[in-house]
Amino acid sequence: MAELESLIGPCPFIPDDVTVVQFMLDSYHPLRPIRPVDTPWLIDDTTGRGIGLEEIRTRVWGLANALHVRFGIREDDVVLIYSPNHMDYLLMVWAVHRLGATMSGANPSYTTDELVYQIEETKCTLVITHPASLKTAHDASRKAKVPGDRIVLFNIQDADHGKHITVDELVAQGLNTPPSFVERKLNPGEGKTKIAFLSFSSGTTGRAKAVAIPHIAPIANVIQCAAHNKVNQNYTRWEDQRFRPGDTCCGILPLYHIYGLVYNTHYIFFCGMSVVLAPKFSFTDFLKSIAKYKITHLMLVPPQIVLLCKHPAVKEYDFSHVRFATIGAAPISRELMEMLIKVFPNADIGQSYGSTETCTILTTFPIDIKRDLSGSGGQFIPGVTARVVDTNGKLVDFDEPGELVVKCPSMALGYANNAEATKETFVDGWFRTGDEVKITRKGEIFVLDRLKEMIKVKGHQVAPAELEGCLLEHPDVADTCVVSILDEYAGELPLAYVALNPDAARRAEAGPTEADAIKASIQKHVADNKIAYKHLAAGVEFIDVVPKNPSGKLLRRVLRDRARKERAVV
Ligand code: AMP
Repeated sequence: MAELESLIGPCPFIPDDVTVVQFMLDSYHPLRPIRPVDTPWLIDDTTGRGIGLEEIRTRVWGLANALHVRFGIREDDVVLIYSPNHMDYLLMVWAVHRLGATMSGANPSYTTDELVYQIEETKCTLVITHPASLKTAHDASRKAKVPGDRIVLFNIQDADHGKHITVDELVAQGLNTPPSFVERKLNPGEGKTKIAFLSFSSGTTGRAKAVAIPHIAPIANVIQCAAHNKVNQNYTRWEDQRFRPGDTCCGILPLYHIYGLVYNTHYIFFCGMSVVLAPKFSFTDFLKSIAKYKITHLMLVPPQIVLLCKHPAVKEYDFSHVRFATIGAAPISRELMEMLIKVFPNADIGQSYGSTETCTILTTFPIDIKRDLSGSGGQFIPGVTARVVDTNGKLVDFDEPGELVVKCPSMALGYANNAEATKETFVDGWFRTGDEVKITRKGEIFVLDRLKEMIKVKGHQVAPAELEGCLLEHPDVADTCVVSILDEYAGELPLAYVALNPDAARRAEAGPTEADAIKASIQKHVADNKIAYKHLAAGVEFIDVVPKNPSGKLLRRVLRDRARKERAVV
């Protein structure tokens, strides 16, 4: 197979001299449609309040001024947002970018130690949080030596904000203070190296790492997606465009994940559409909100599809106004796709595929296909060059399995402060996805398996190495290997193979009750220290010795295959 390049159209113009905020709020691009007057960018799902460009610009300016005056935020500082979705979340991101600083988003349900890890890895100097996450933010900041007065709270009606300054107060302060900062502008080409985001991904191996995403990456992905929206010459009529100004998209994906941060918001705003932002995913509220706001576009992950297909409440609604639904982050079965068509009878439905390291999507389902039931992850968007290689790095033919390796303008620079992992994964300008795929002659991708260690639970990454580190702290565990089994709802569930130390092994041999007690204690240890989706939901299995190759590397694949054979797919 030759390298597959721009099969579906040339890569459009991508500016490399603007920051994300300048691209979104201040600049023109030929692919950007005109937004209908008075349509909001963001709508608060809870209150129905909308916010448009002028208000966004003002608040962002006020915030940037206050962040600079009060906290001295400037060039290359990292601001960490540890919060569920909030109407001011992206405004905070853009304010940080006006100052030339970097934003890192953390899951608001992280435990203290998980948050400490991210604070330390990013070396952040300011934490923005939410009243519900404040206690953990406090504990983690103290442990990571970020002073307590450098915690800012998003405003929540009727919540206790304690003595912490809130975003509303910062905006007011910034707007009432003379301009104190000079907007960070980029020189030509600087967008390729100036870091906008530090998003976390475990990549091919090991613990989660800070993916260094330059300003050009999200900008490029937005433009590539917009070019794909117009790609088929037969589909230039306005009513045939998938994403049209005035449309409304749901906003249930978390903004700390690249899928929510770029595709679900920045791209949607660029299209002149509105996002109905939900603070937390509640299925019944989600159904109400699709109906109430006449949502036309849905960006989803597989567990939400399972609910949409199987929950009885869905039958109470008429969703004929939904025109588009895409599923990403993990694979989805054909059966579920077929059921989904019944729920959204008028929608284009198909998959998108991407990763944090490529600053969201590489593929999405073809614009001229209404329902893509083939199981395909879609076709490459303009600007992506793809190769599929065997274990020796040699190109394989169309329809042959191999690892997907890509080059694209939205690619990350590597892993911050981790030259070794960067060298392994970003090779000569190519990104090794760690996914086993095949590509058809039509340029469609089928994701067959994951070659990398990463486990995906409900669309969230779980790094086996992190859980193994946690398990080794348990007094009964001598050695361990974490793998996953398949599960219809969650996609995958973590399972730990554990070799017990001699004393625990003797106790386990005494009988099933004793063995079960040890397993329960090991599971509890993980549950006490890790966020819910990392818990050992598939349990613990004892094993005499964890298999390793002669150089001591875990034979993870052997155990994964064994687990999937022994455990029936639920
Ligand atoms: P993340 O960086 O969290 O977005 O995870 C990226 C990984 O999720 C990819 O490398 C794939 O393993 C997986 N992934 C994303 N989209 C899909 C999809 N449509 N089908 C199968 N796997 C996917």
